[in-house]
Amino acid sequence: MSYRLHIPKTLQEAVQIKKETGGTYLAAGTDILVNHRHKDDLIALEKIPGLSSIEEEKDYVRIGSLVTFNQLEKSSLVKEKLPALWQAAYNTAGPQIRNRATIGGNIGCFSPASDSVTALLALDAEVELFDGKTCREKLENLHFLDNTAMITSVLVPKRFGFSAFEKVGKRNAMSVSVINMALARNGSEVRIATGCMGPQVILCKDPSSVLEFLYPINDRWGTIEYKTAVARKLLDKLTKEAGL
Ligand SMILES: Cc1cc2nc3c(=O)[nH]c(=O)nc-3n(C[C@H](O)[C@H](O)[C@H](O)COP(=O)(O)OP(=O)(O)OC[C@H]3O[C@@H](n4cnc5c(N)ncnc54)[C@H](O)[C@@H]3O)c2cc1C
Repeated sequence: MSYRLHIPKTLQEAVQIKKETGGTYLAAGTDILVNHRHKDDLIALEKIPGLSSIEEEKDYVRIGSLVTFNQLEKSSLVKEKLPALWQAAYNTAGPQIRNRATIGGNIGCFSPASDSVTALLALDAEVELFDGKTCREKLENLHFLDNTAMITSVLVPKRFGFSAFEKVGKRNAMSVSVINMALARNGSEVRIATGCMGPQVILCKDPSSVLEFLYPINDRWGTIEYKTAVARKLLDKLTKEAGL
């Protein structure tokens, strides 16, 4: 397999290369390079400044798209204000992958097993995109990326007094989830997200109807019966912890 690697130094340059080559954005490559999902040119984002920090804003925590799971895990701000995201980061893969894999790449995979996406959906996160100009989109409305759009940061609201994330996997935290679930609560506002139980991470705002929205399949990770039983247990645990 051969391909050209571009290493732009600005957002504008990256978008221009994407327009000209139709290439694929490359963050850490723990998904695309492992799964050989790119067809042609790769556009590495690592030299673009300003994408690797975690900052507190008035109502949000702003997380750059190149922030790694290791950075999330080490961040006291994330641990304190966004516990569900911290738990998702802590439980993602093993240390080697966590040192490299990015939050932008986790979203960009659009995988139903992306652990951070489950936490971010529960926390009502927004994504900042750049395609020559900047725009913002709620993560729950983002099902694919248009043409040249690049994720530059994730904005996670701080308003949820309670949030938590649970994951069941084949080997504890070393591989993708068999099922994961996150719940965030701010008074009467409740958001529950579940991964691996459909073609994408599923969001539900009513705890009493979560199980109706799940449609697991039999696969090498588990049977429909197993996954449904685990989902019931996780939902029970999370709703109890949230005081529901
Ligand atoms: C052994 C192993 C274990 C794993 N365990 C887990 C796990 O427990 N939980 C989990 O969720 N995942 C897991 N993964 C999957 C993977 O590591 C994560 O999804 C990771 O977050 C991908 O990030 P990355 O930076 O490597 O993305 P890349 O592989 O570089 O990119 C992934 C996709 O996102 C796109 N992309 C990347 N950045 C951007 C951007 N800024 N804007 C637009 N598009 C972008 C790319 O074009 C590509 O399509 C595992 C992978 C391996 C190999």
